[in-house]
Amino acid sequence: MLEENSGQSAPARELVCIICPRGCQLSVQENPDGSLAVHGNACPRGQTYAIKELTAPSRTLTTTVRIKSAALPVVPVKSQAEIPKAKLFEAMQQISHLVLTAPVKRGSVALTDLAGTGISLIVTRDMERV
Ligand code: SF4
Repeated sequence: MLEENSGQSAPARELVCIICPRGCQLSVQENPDGSLAVHGNACPRGQTYAIKELTAPSRTLTTTVRIKSAALPVVPVKSQAEIPKAKLFEAMQQISHLVLTAPVKRGSVALTDLAGTGISLIVTRDMERV
């Protein structure tokens, strides 16, 4: 359900599709049966995105982690899959306490079960020991 609205149809929710650079302006209306009708999408991915964004929003988390004994102080990482948006803050807090030690390989697991999601945090760059 999008919003409570004393017997009248709920106003449409507007959002921009972020799946591709075209950036379609989407309008989502709740049908009387509770299903969602998406308009403005130039392809089916926009409908999938809009419904997911309004019912179970999630994001791939991309950030950096501190690393010891490397040429740089941090190494880039990202979540192996999207995690719920509501878990992003908790995940960043968990990552802020993490310190890796070089060498690390691209694709290696920096952290398992990110914020209790069961999703791993993955290193996205090789970093040699210095
Ligand atoms: S609806 Fe399709 S074409 Fe439009 S921005 Fe989303 S992915 Fe791109």
